[in-house]
Amino acid sequence: MKNLILLFLAVLTLSCTTKAQEKTETKKEYKVTKTDAQWKEVLTSEQYYILRKAGTERPFSSPLNKNYKEGVYHCAGCNTPLYKSEHKFDSGTGWPSFDRAVEGSIDKDVDYKIGYARSELLCGTCGGHLGHVFSDGPRNTTGKRHCINGDALIFVPKK
Ligand SMILES: [Zn+2]
Repeated sequence: MKNLILLFLAVLTLSCTTKAQEKTETKKEYKVTKTDAQWKEVLTSEQYYILRKAGTERPFSSPLNKNYKEGVYHCAGCNTPLYKSEHKFDSGTGWPSFDRAVEGSIDKDVDYKIGYARSELLCGTCGGHLGHVFSDGPRNTTGKRHCINGDALIFVPKK
C-alpha cells in the first residue's frame, strides 16, 4: 500500500512538471534578429518607430500612399519582398493599402491597443510591425485591406 501511494505521488509530481513546462511558450524565432541598438543603427527614426515600436505614421504622410508604379514593396527592416504593386489599391485611408501580401511573407498577431482586437501584420522574416488587416477591402478580389505604414516599406521599381 505504501508503495502504491509513493507511486501515485510520483505520477502526480510528474504530471505537474509537464504542465508547468507547457506553459513556458517559446516566442517565434525570426530569421533576422537584431538588438534594439542594432536596429536603431540601420533604421531611420521613422522606420524604427513603426517597425520596432509598432507605431503608426500620420495618414497621407507617406509618398508611397499614392505610388502606383510597377514594382515590389520590401520590408524596410530586412529587405524581404512583402507586397506587389498589382495588389495595391487606393483605399482613401491615407495609408498604402493592398488586398494581399506575397504568399508566406508575413505573420499575423492580435493587438488590443485601441480597445478592441485588431489583426496586426508583421514581417515574417524580422518580425517588424507593418500595419493591420481589415475585412473591408475590394470585394471583387480578396475583400481584405492590408493597411500598411509606408515607413515600414521600401519600394523597388520594376526594371
Ligand atoms: Zn522584415
